[in-house]
Amino acid sequence: LTERLQNAMKKLRGKGKVSQSDLRETMREIRLALLEADVNFQVVRQFVKTVEQRATGAKVLEGLNPSQQIVKIVDEELTKMMGDEAVPLNKSEKIPTVIMMSGLQGAGKTTTVGKLALKLKNEQNARPLLIADDVYRPAAIEQLQTVGQQVDVPVFQLGTDVDPVEIAKRGLAQAQENHNDYVIIDTAGRLQIDEKLMGELSDIKKAVNPDEILLVIDAMTGQNAVATAQGFDETLDVTGVVLTKLDGDTRGGAALSIRAVTGKPIKFVGQGEKMSDLDVFHPDRMASRILGMGDMLSLIEKTQKEYDQKQAAELSEKIKENTFDFNDFLDQMSQIQKMGPLDEIMKMIPGMANNPALQNVNMDPKDIEHIKAIIYSMTEQERTDPDVLNPSRRRRISRGSGRPVQEVNRMIKQFGQMKTMMNKVSKGNMSGMENVMQS
Ligand code: GDP
Ligand code: MG
Repeated sequence: LTERLQNAMKKLRGKGKVSQSDLRETMREIRLALLEADVNFQVVRQFVKTVEQRATGAKVLEGLNPSQQIVKIVDEELTKMMGDEAVPLNKSEKIPTVIMMSGLQGAGKTTTVGKLALKLKNEQNARPLLIADDVYRPAAIEQLQTVGQQVDVPVFQLGTDVDPVEIAKRGLAQAQENHNDYVIIDTAGRLQIDEKLMGELSDIKKAVNPDEILLVIDAMTGQNAVATAQGFDETLDVTGVVLTKLDGDTRGGAALSIRAVTGKPIKFVGQGEKMSDLDVFHPDRMASRILGMGDMLSLIEKTQKEYDQKQAAELSEKIKENTFDFNDFLDQMSQIQKMGPLDEIMKMIPGMANNPALQNVNMDPKDIEHIKAIIYSMTEQERTDPDVLNPSRRRRISRGSGRPVQEVNRMIKQFGQMKTMMNKVSKGNMSGMENVMQS
């Protein structure tokens, strides 16, 4: 999915203007990408239609940076398709909250039981009880016990000879007695959906009335993931989905269709085999991941296009000589502004797209305008020799630029720090600089 989509987006990104036929071509690629990823064709059709309408309707094509706007629309619609907001785990009014797992064999149920218990322990100080309700393989009980030990949470089990409905009931009774606040029931799976399994799961559901029925789906199973989700949901009316093995090659195709087809929220994603590898599902972050915003290549492309090599060489010379002044600073900021919105650029740096730190950073283009205004109010001498900037000059600059004097002071101070840092990096070790660039 991703590669195709990314290529389509990349082609678009390189363009200043987007014609009607560029748009059609892009939409065709997106449609194919989604279909290839086994997204339900009706979902695809609706998605493409919505994006196309928004792109045409809002006069995006004639506006500024049309390709970026289309990428943004696709990003937003993908997010919407996956449910917009993270959906928390259901919680019962009185303890224990009962969580029941369901899913095919090998999907990751038992592993997820342990991960979830750990998460609840860490985040809510919870005292969960795990119930071993997969009685078809002795190894299944042992596996849950191992998992329980790993996260230091007790496991209730009655061996393999007792009826799973009975085990679930008695496990719940024990949790009530011991005042556990959560019960997590590990159930059996099959390689395929069959009536016997569904019957058993329905019976367990009836017996313990779970607050949360989580369907665990292996993200690597493509089209089957959607069919499986539909099958389980029809019988069990699940309350949420856990998508596992997202650490593998897949990049979220299943996440797209499951929500759209079943209407059930994806609540967590499994990103590895360790007990700590369970994360809350954030639709917006998944959309960015699918779109491959963390894409250094396009950043480089963009930078190269906008940024003249010769200028770059001159600049690094100035930094080395420590003669970088406010005029150069002004040039730099104009360069950055030409590249587009700052936060968009930041998102292309690997690791930044999903970096929570970035979500709170307010990259207001106005800030750049303010800095520019301050520099414009400086005399040529002040720009080239910041040392002359005494308090009375700073007050004059403040009046001239319409910015508070504290802001002027702060900007001059930050400039000084930045200059020192750049000079250090350039002199001390170029490899250090390269490390910064690559990390
Ligand atoms: P169950 O049959 O549904 O209970 O599945 P298990 O919990 O036994 O998991 C099956 C296999 O998938 C095990 O080898 C797990 O370690 C592995 N697994 C589960 N979740 C993840 C995940 O998020 N990422 C990866 N890489 N492996 C996982
Ligand atoms: Mg299992």
